[in-house]
Amino acid sequence: MTEKPIGGGTASDHRIAVSLTFDFDAESVWLGALGVDTPSALSRGAYGANEGVPRILRLLDKYHLPATFFIPGDTADRHPEETKAIAAAGHEIGHHGYCHEPPPGLSLTEEREMIERGIDALERQVGVRPRGYRSPSWELSHNTYALLAEYGIEYDASQLAADRPYWVHDKGERTDIVEVPGAWELCDSSLFMFAFTPNYLTGLASPSRAQEIWCGDFDGMYAENSDACYVLTMHPQIIGRHHRMQLLERVIQHMLGHDGVWFAQMGDIADDFRQRATANVQP
Ligand SMILES: [Zn+2]
Repeated sequence: MTEKPIGGGTASDHRIAVSLTFDFDAESVWLGALGVDTPSALSRGAYGANEGVPRILRLLDKYHLPATFFIPGDTADRHPEETKAIAAAGHEIGHHGYCHEPPPGLSLTEEREMIERGIDALERQVGVRPRGYRSPSWELSHNTYALLAEYGIEYDASQLAADRPYWVHDKGERTDIVEVPGAWELCDSSLFMFAFTPNYLTGLASPSRAQEIWCGDFDGMYAENSDACYVLTMHPQIIGRHHRMQLLERVIQHMLGHDGVWFAQMGDIADDFRQRATANVQP
């Protein structure tokens, strides 16, 4: 006997779309973005694979919620079992660089190689060709969108310009790439990330502080009722601590207490926007 689904909602009558997204950076963010390769730093990344991912998958399964995981190729290569478990649970997998390289520091050739290696690793490890891209560290170069279009990426999740999807514009022209934007306020790293090096970050916010911010933005978007998409951006090595998983569960329960909440993968939100935008331009 199967249980009745708890979460979900539908695209057709939603008041707000919610996407739970997890950037499974593991070691790559320390190596690629932060430039440290010490065993201690890399062990922090490994926590995301060892503890964070299994804990997150159990929580999503408990509430029958879909999610999107953006996974660097380096993570898929180092942690194929966890990457396969994410895919096997039916969650979407998106592109997140090869080794979390910030695109502004890359030449056109290097950025192309990063995109190709990221796609290759996901295809090789889990047989998935990513439809979406979230740039490492939410940084974009002036070449990024031309490259994403060339490699068939359908949506981007690297911009922060609105509370709802929109078309990406590149060098003054509308592209065919849908933007599903995020926000630093709805990201666990800006609240919780602690580090001594390479930069001192205080982080370690109390869960109640994050809950106030995350529920406050949800309540505001829900009340405004204007096709908002609420995108939480989290990292297994950060949100995966017990006290933060308890926070995430409380936020999920808060959202489930509202009618018209569509929990969706990022690709489904992009598809919904594309379909409605296309319908609106027909006579
Ligand atoms: Zn990342």
